Amino acid sequence: MNEIILSETLPILALRGITVFPGMVSHFDVGRTKSIRALEDAMAGNQEIFLIMQRDIAVADPGLKDLCKVGTAARIKQLLKLPGDVVRVLVEGVFRGQILSLTQTEPYLAGQVESLPDQKYSKDGAACAAQIRLSYQLYERFSELAPKQMQESLLRLSNSDDPGYIADFIAQNSTIHFNDKQKVLEQLHPVRRLTLANRLLSQENEVLQMEADLQEKVHESMNKGQRDYYLREQLKAIQSELEGEEELSEQENYEKRIRALHLSEESQDKLLKELSRLVKQPSGSSEAALIRSYLDTVLELPWNKTTKERVDLESARRILDKEHYGLEKVKERILEILAVKKLAPDMKGQIICLVGPPGVGKTSIAISIAHCLNRKLARISLGGVHDEADIRGHRKTYIGAMPGRVMDAVRNCGSRNALILFDEVDKMGADYRGDPSAALLEVLDAEQNNAFRDHYLEIPFDLSDCLFITTANTTDTIPRPLLDRMEVIELGSYTDEEKLHIAREHLLPKQMKKHGLNALKLRISDDAIRETITCYTRESGVRNLERELATICRRAAAKLVAKGGPKRVQVTGANLEDFLGVRRFLPDSIPDQDPVGLVTGLAWTQVGGETLEVECNVMEGNGKLELTGNLGNVMKESVQAAMSYIRSRADKLQIPADFYKTKDIHVHFPEGAVPKDGPSAGVTVCTAIVSALTGAPVRRDVAMTGEISIRGRVLAIGGLKEKTMAALRHGVHTVIIPKENERDLPEIDQTVRRALNFIPVSTADEVLSAALDFSRRPGRAEEVILPNVPEQNAGCAGLRQ
Ligand code: ADP
Repeated sequence: MNEIILSETLPILALRGITVFPGMVSHFDVGRTKSIRALEDAMAGNQEIFLIMQRDIAVADPGLKDLCKVGTAARIKQLLKLPGDVVRVLVEGVFRGQILSLTQTEPYLAGQVESLPDQKYSKDGAACAAQIRLSYQLYERFSELAPKQMQESLLRLSNSDDPGYIADFIAQNSTIHFNDKQKVLEQLHPVRRLTLANRLLSQENEVLQMEADLQEKVHESMNKGQRDYYLREQLKAIQSELEGEEELSEQENYEKRIRALHLSEESQDKLLKELSRLVKQPSGSSEAALIRSYLDTVLELPWNKTTKERVDLESARRILDKEHYGLEKVKERILEILAVKKLAPDMKGQIICLVGPPGVGKTSIAISIAHCLNRKLARISLGGVHDEADIRGHRKTYIGAMPGRVMDAVRNCGSRNALILFDEVDKMGADYRGDPSAALLEVLDAEQNNAFRDHYLEIPFDLSDCLFITTANTTDTIPRPLLDRMEVIELGSYTDEEKLHIAREHLLPKQMKKHGLNALKLRISDDAIRETITCYTRESGVRNLERELATICRRAAAKLVAKGGPKRVQVTGANLEDFLGVRRFLPDSIPDQDPVGLVTGLAWTQVGGETLEVECNVMEGNGKLELTGNLGNVMKESVQAAMSYIRSRADKLQIPADFYKTKDIHVHFPEGAVPKDGPSAGVTVCTAIVSALTGAPVRRDVAMTGEISIRGRVLAIGGLKEKTMAALRHGVHTVIIPKENERDLPEIDQTVRRALNFIPVSTADEVLSAALDFSRRPGRAEEVILPNVPEQNAGCAGLRQ
């Protein structure tokens, strides 16, 4: 660099936003007349000119005060006239300089210019070397990021080890702001100048990097948008190619099918209106798909399809007998209903409700009825339904709307006079989503169901030709208005003997056929079936029995096909465990001795009868009465009633009168996890407490049921049939029942009646006397005075044969 201070007069060119550095060649365009004159005159002279940036680029005619402090004396290499009075000039910077004074201002600026040599610096300093090295890296990075036109060969930079030159090079050839460039120009110390240039370049690199990232993102999103647009357009084009003619025929097709249904004018108009909406939709739109599926659903309904009903009592009897063992009463009732149907075919609105424990054949008898009448069967399970929309459908405006279960079942069975079977009406719930029973009522009600309106279909459908059968485990939880409209037919529990018949005649042949077996391959002895009934199932119906028989068939099939297996499998009581595993229930055994404080009660549940043990302990204490075993309120109250009765009888029973103050009494119902409630355990509790208090043993073969009043009356109970069956299963011989229930005895199954001994009683005194053995009471037994009840009551005479 020029270290000698020069001073000469040069034309001055004010630059706007441009800096030229010594040693650098650059070009720029000049438009101002004053500047062009200066260039021309310089060109005419020794081609030297002083280039200096003006502080404010907006000033049109700058004076000395408008110019920066430091500029560059340059040599003009080329002048090129461009159209529109613009001159392009190519210059090479020679040295830094400053203006000492102006010699002229017109026709252009000229002045005395003094050179500004670089300050001295240590060339060998590590700081200088580090800055140089850093500058290479920064400039390399800049070259990668910078726009193409800014890229100047790195080679020129790496050839130099002069920090001042490198700083000038970087400032000249980078995109840093012109004010920053001016700062670099004004720095006369080379190392400091390079440090400044590096810092500025590093900042610039960051900005460029950020810019590049942003641009990439914009580019990406634009690309995706464009791609989607392009694909969508292509799809449209393909669709319109494909559907050109078909659209018309779809419309015609729908219209033809709608008119062929011969619906009421109102319904037909509604469908045609939907069709015209469909035609207006773009065919691939989701709206069109919705309308199409609506029309398809409506068109699939059996508007005019019926099966020819057959009301023939003879064949009905035959079918019922063939498909079901026993159930005589049920069959009679069904045949009566059919008889009425024959005489008055137009009588509508008969709804049969089959009530009974699970697995007693409610569903299968309903299916038989459908066979008898030659009607198709549509089965709807109402268990757990608590939304009205389940029955009546969702309005079309809902996303994913569908017809309700009723119309769906009708559509699936394809007949307008189907037999619709509503399973588990007693398990229907009602909550904030609406009450399904109200909707069901509308379906069942003969007055309303000839125009049943499903929310989805919106047009009325005539359900009045359908026959409705419902099933339930109990009538207790069936909504009252529904129950009122139904004709209840009860199906009771099966006895073991009946189960054996059902198994042999129906379940086993069905399962053998299913498993590809026949009588030659598998034989199951009656003993085996009996054992299956008593040791592997404990139920009122035969559902589990059927499952166990299926297991036997499956295991037998596995044995038959096994390599080297037998040709024929024989199942007997002895080898039953090979098929079903160890026995699950051992036959109930009656205790060896008459227990004290333990009484067998009888309970009724939705799934049949059960025996219910009641235990009582009496301890010294202070009159605490503790009740355990998950009891409901009614049950707790009947314990209180029993206590009240016992206290009133304390004298007669020879219990200390203050026992309720000096003893703690604990009554427990085992199987504590099972919730229990109901009043019919009253007498059982009473007997258990008296036994525990007096020490008199309870006759071990006695079971009992009956509600107790505080004055010791025994009141009627329900479910006698199921309860007595449970008693028989338990191995009990004598059952104490309320006298009022004597009238139910004829209802009880023959086998049970034959096997059990009934003691009808009207007071708790009678119960105690029949169930407790006071003679074996420790202490003064002979003094207990209670009425003597005959074991075999006259009302039931002859029942035990
Ligand atoms: P539910 O509807 O009462 O719960 P199902 O009708 O499903 O019971 O009956 C369970 C199984 O027991 C069915 O396979 C059915 O055929 C059979 N079944 C029940 N009772 C009888 C019967 N009396 N005769 C023949 N099979 C019966």
